[in-house]
Amino acid sequence: LSDKLSGIFDKLTRRGALSEADVAEALREVRRALLDADVALDVARAFSEKAQERAVGANIVKSISPGQMVIKIVNDVLVETLGETAEPISLDANPPVAIMMVGLQGAGKTTTTAKIAKRLKEREKKRVLMASLDVKRPAAQEQLAVLGRQVGVDTLPIMGGQTPVQIARRAMESARKEGYDVVLLDTAGRTHIDEPLMQEMVDIKSYASPHEILLVADALTGQDAVNLAKNFDQRVGVTGIVLTRMDGDGRGGAALSMRFVTGKPIKLIATGEKMDALDEFSPKRIADRILGMGDIVALVEKAAAAIDQQEAMRAAERMAKGKFDLQDLSDQLGMAEKMGGLGGMMSLLPGVAKMKDQLASAKMDDKSIKRMRGIIFSMTPKERRNPDILKASRKKRIAAGAGVKVEEVNKLLKQHRTMSDVMKAMGGMKRGGGGMMGKA
Ligand code: GDP
Ligand code: MG
Repeated sequence: LSDKLSGIFDKLTRRGALSEADVAEALREVRRALLDADVALDVARAFSEKAQERAVGANIVKSISPGQMVIKIVNDVLVETLGETAEPISLDANPPVAIMMVGLQGAGKTTTTAKIAKRLKEREKKRVLMASLDVKRPAAQEQLAVLGRQVGVDTLPIMGGQTPVQIARRAMESARKEGYDVVLLDTAGRTHIDEPLMQEMVDIKSYASPHEILLVADALTGQDAVNLAKNFDQRVGVTGIVLTRMDGDGRGGAALSMRFVTGKPIKLIATGEKMDALDEFSPKRIADRILGMGDIVALVEKAAAAIDQQEAMRAAERMAKGKFDLQDLSDQLGMAEKMGGLGGMMSLLPGVAKMKDQLASAKMDDKSIKRMRGIIFSMTPKERRNPDILKASRKKRIAAGAGVKVEEVNKLLKQHRTMSDVMKAMGGMKRGGGGMMGKA
C-alpha cells in the first residue's frame, strides 16, 4: 500500500494550493487504507468527504508533495474526529457512582470491569464494589469474583435466583449502606444484538441510573461496529467506549466507526488479558494505527517546523541588530501562538533566556498573547514601526479599536520597550563576538 501511495506522491510535485484532483487521487488511497483498517464502509466514505472539504485549497508546505500534504490533513481531521483530548471516566456524581458496562458476549466486559476497578482503587483511592448481572452464562458471576480477589476489589456476594435488575438493586443498596464510592455493574452480553438484551439493559439502567454507561467492543469488530454502537447508543445511551484487544493485529478502525456514528468519546483502550493492560485513549496513536501513514505525517510536520524555524531565525537576525518594533513583536507573538506557546519559540532563539524570564514574569499566556496582538492589529503600519509617535489620542483610538482600556495599550508599549532594550543589549553582545545567534 505505501508503495502505491509513494507512487502517487511522486506524480504530484507541484506547489501552491491543493487542487480537487490532487485531493481526489490521494483520498482514493486513504479510503483504501481506512477499509484495510476495518473502518466501516459508510464511515470511510463520510470521513473522506469531511477530509476533502478541509484539504481542497489548503496550502502545500514547501518541499512536500500535494499527496503528502493531503495525508497530513487527513491525519489531522482523523485525530480531531477521534477526539483531540483523552476523556477520563467521570466520577463526578453523588456516591455511590454507578458505572454500567455493556456490549456483546466475549467483548471483554468482565475483564475490563475488573481492570477499571483496580485502577479506580489504586489511582483514585476509591472504595469500589463490583457486581455481575450476568445470569445467563454459568459461572459468569464467579468469574468476576475471581478477578475481584485478584485485584483486591470487593464483589457483591452471589445469590441464586435473582434477575439482573434485582442484582443491580441489591448492589446499589449495599453500596449505599456500606459506603462504597463506586459500583461497577458488569452486564450479560449476547452473541448479537437482540431485543431482550436491549430491554434488559434499559431496565438495569432505569434502576441503577448509572453515571457512566461504557460500551465495551472488540477492536476487531469490523463492519458491525456501526450497527453495534448505534443500537446501544440509541436504545441504552452510552457515555463512552472502551476498545479491547488492541494488543492484537487489528488496526482499530472500529474506533473511528463508533466515534463517528455516536460522537461518544473513546475512553479507554484494553491491550491484553492482564489486569493492568488498560491505557488512556491516545487519538494520535490510534490515528497513526488506523491510517498507517505515520512516516508521511512526521515528514510533513518536520517540513512545517523547518519553515517556522527559518522564520524564527530571520526574526532573530533582525533582533540581533537591535531592531525590534511592534510589528516584530506581533510576528513573534503570532509564531509563539502557532508553535504552542512561548517555550517553543524561545527554544529556537539561543541566548534569549533572559527574555524568557521576562515574558514569564509578564504572565504571558495564550489569552494575553491574543489580546496583545489585537492591540497591535489596531495600529497603523506606521505606528507599528515607530512606537514613539503613539501619543494620547492615538492610544485612545487604538484602545477603542481593540476593545481594551488605554492602560492595556500602555502596558503593551512598556512590555515592548523592555523587550526592545533586551534585544539591543543582546545585539551588542553579538557584535562583541558572543556568537549567541549560532545554530539552533
Ligand atoms: P465478556 O463476555 O464481554 O465479559 O468478555 P470477557 O471479559 O469474559 O473476555 C473474554 C475473553 O477475552 C477473556 O478470555 C479475556 O481474557 C479476553 N480479553 C479481554 N480483554 C482483552 C484484551 O484487551 N486483549 C486480549 N488479548 N484479550 C482480552
Ligand atoms: Mg462477562
